[in-house]
Amino acid sequence: MSQRRPLIAGNWKMHNGVSATTALLEGLLEENLPAGVDVVVCPPFTSLPAAAMVLSASSIGLGAQNVHWETKGAFTGEISPDMLSGLGVGWTIVGHSERRSLFGETDETAAMRAEAAQKAGLEVIFCLGETLDEREAGSTFDVLKRQASVLKTLDPAHLVVAYEPVWAIGTGRTASAEQADEAHAFLRSEAASFFGSDTAGALRILYGGSMKPGNAAELLGRENVDGGLIGGASLDVGSFSAIIRAAAL
Ligand code: PEP
Repeated sequence: MSQRRPLIAGNWKMHNGVSATTALLEGLLEENLPAGVDVVVCPPFTSLPAAAMVLSASSIGLGAQNVHWETKGAFTGEISPDMLSGLGVGWTIVGHSERRSLFGETDETAAMRAEAAQKAGLEVIFCLGETLDEREAGSTFDVLKRQASVLKTLDPAHLVVAYEPVWAIGTGRTASAEQADEAHAFLRSEAASFFGSDTAGALRILYGGSMKPGNAAELLGRENVDGGLIGGASLDVGSFSAIIRAAAL
């Protein structure tokens, strides 16, 4: 782990309605979590008000899984940044690979969402990462360079990058600690090329892709791995807490 404060964020995806959200978060609040780790949970939109109530007196941050770039208008099915901040949401994920592969998200639309979110005062977790085909074709770093290039328009003070190799998300297959650290170091050097090295040195870069209690310490122990974006393992209080504790070591 680096000098950067670790962050562990849970992406619940399309899991947990209101009562399951309340139960999971009440369980998490009973855990004796380490003070030195930032924790954020990202439930589905409809569970955000319930989550905001349970978390109101806690230091656990609340995030959405996506956000639109407009403030209002004829955008059926979309949610604006102000709608989120009005609920007490402080964070949003943007550009998740499931949004990219299943719902047509592009580098450009992800950047538009992130910019609008930051303007509304939200902290952004910006996801990127290569597919298996891209890794096997040897183009991982070209893909990361292209995806990261849109970060230059964002405010680095309110940005967290999540490196999520698509082949590791929800597959049980994890990048090795070396692969993760190498990709994170590359992303940090890209960030340095437009933010400058001091700002890039302070930028948190999370790893995401089948992080579990059993592999968290090794991944989080790498110099450039500043935390995790956790899918499946964030749905279980014991697993998520164990990962948070691993980030404190
Ligand atoms: C994710 O969805 O961002 C993710 C990392 O999922 P999982 O941990 O289940 O691979």
